[in-house]
Amino acid sequence: MGHISLQIKLPTNYSEDCMRESIAKKIGSHDFSFRIEKKSLDARKKNAAFWLISLLVISDKLKSGKYKSPQPLEIPFKKRNKKVIVVGSGPAGFFSAYILQLAGFKVKIIERGSDVGRRSNAIRLLDKNGEFSAGNNYAFGEGGAGTFSDGKLTSRSKHISAERQFILNEYVKAGAPEEILYMAYPHVGTDNLKVVVVNLRKRFLENGGEFYFDTKLEDIVSQGGRLSKLICNTGEMEADHIILATGHSAYDTYRMLINRGVRFKTKNFAIGHRIEHEQKLINLGQWGVEKLEGVKAAEYRLSSKTKSGLPVYTFCMCPGGKVVPSAAYEHKSIVNGMSYYKRNGLYSNAGCVVGVHPDMLTGHKCSPLEILDWMDKLEESFFKFEDSYVVPANRAKDYMRQKASLSLPASSYPLGLRQAALYNMVPGFVSETLIEGLKDFSRKLKGFEQGTLMGLESKTSSPIQLVRNKDGKAEGFENLFFVGEGSGYTGGIISSAADGVKCAMALSSK
Ligand SMILES: Cc1cc2nc3c(=O)[nH]c(=O)nc-3n(C[C@H](O)[C@H](O)[C@H](O)COP(=O)(O)OP(=O)(O)OC[C@H]3O[C@@H](n4cnc5c(N)ncnc54)[C@H](O)[C@@H]3O)c2cc1C
Repeated sequence: MGHISLQIKLPTNYSEDCMRESIAKKIGSHDFSFRIEKKSLDARKKNAAFWLISLLVISDKLKSGKYKSPQPLEIPFKKRNKKVIVVGSGPAGFFSAYILQLAGFKVKIIERGSDVGRRSNAIRLLDKNGEFSAGNNYAFGEGGAGTFSDGKLTSRSKHISAERQFILNEYVKAGAPEEILYMAYPHVGTDNLKVVVVNLRKRFLENGGEFYFDTKLEDIVSQGGRLSKLICNTGEMEADHIILATGHSAYDTYRMLINRGVRFKTKNFAIGHRIEHEQKLINLGQWGVEKLEGVKAAEYRLSSKTKSGLPVYTFCMCPGGKVVPSAAYEHKSIVNGMSYYKRNGLYSNAGCVVGVHPDMLTGHKCSPLEILDWMDKLEESFFKFEDSYVVPANRAKDYMRQKASLSLPASSYPLGLRQAALYNMVPGFVSETLIEGLKDFSRKLKGFEQGTLMGLESKTSSPIQLVRNKDGKAEGFENLFFVGEGSGYTGGIISSAADGVKCAMALSSK
């Protein structure tokens, strides 16, 4: 039996038969099996988009060509009597816990929120009438910020291919569509994520793991660089190793850690707004047609260099998705985007943000605690706008002219928009840089200027970063690790989960 790697181009609405025929033509035989290795849409030419598909074709009519199979993650199992507590059940927390369990550790996960079922109910109430739950919202609860997300599984991080492959395989085993293994821009959607997160938890429990919901880490006790106790709302806990994976929305946890001597520094991040368009407008701008058979919805990723040198870019674009109220704390208002697997909503949205450093926002060299306070105030000011989760909004055309809009179009945001001088609600240099970017984006993507800017986008990544070694160990502590987005070293589901895997692999190799 031989095999070769092939690349074929197919129309967007191709059928399985059409793909088989195309392979048969290339290898001169109908007797073969195949596996898709990569699939990406090439829509550079308007009205002429096609799928570019890389395949591994296996047939006894073929001589073996070169094929390098990806290096799998080898988890070193041995009997160990060490206990680990992982704080947070988001992608970073879950995957660090799961790897450690497979390596033979006794692992507990503690999570301040509830299971996906109860979290879903809380989110339904928030979306319906603005009822906020401290433990269960778009940031907190089982599966972390990743559960009610857009579920894009892309990552720009390098050097995580084995970790990424492991994570995607586990997602598929837990119910995610198999295509995430080969799509160039894999997307799983909130509907699938809710199933995947529960199935992953069940596997972890079947393997002997312990999971404590509604259990919030409130304080730590350490002696001579060794963490001896975790103080939770439910009582005290002890373990040999502690892995924090609390995400970057848990400002209360950050503050507690800083006050207990865990070292953080400030870092670049980004702030801005969400922009929403009718999806058909984006399809038209990207593809030249409103509908493309065989493709769900058009995506975009735009960036621009500005005169000031600050980067402006779109972030976390959600085709066919909706804008959601994603604050982690009551009386604060921020927005983010999510979607379902079908991506068939009427709208698309994306963060439209400016890269900044905390010192630029506070106006002086600031400490990690100061930037957290500054961000809190900004998020509060967006809530105070209407004393509710109604978000201030501006048509992009008006924002660019620094004018409040006379009317607003319909929107996917569940709690309503209100006209505002949105450009005045963020620092002047941020809105001015955004305006420069918006003008450039409107040149690059036809119709972009017809979007509506809304709310505050402030959680692209953390404004602070732990001082840690490459395995995630906090400086000055021998048994405290911090992984994922809260550590300030990752952004997104895959890079955060991979950070958890790397930390767990390093601990397991000792
Ligand atoms: C609406 C939305 C859409 C998104 N869409 C995408 C997307 O499409 N693709 C993508 O790659 N990324 C997306 N993201 C970002 C992504 O969700 C995060 O990057 C990722 O979840 C970070 O993983 P994490 O494990 O580091 O932290 P988190 O997912 O934030 O998890 C942290 C967990 O810790 C828990 N916790 C916090 N403090 C404590 C405490 N003191 N005690 C106990 N538990 C605690 C929290 O409840 C939470 O469950 C989105 C985020 C949001 C909010």
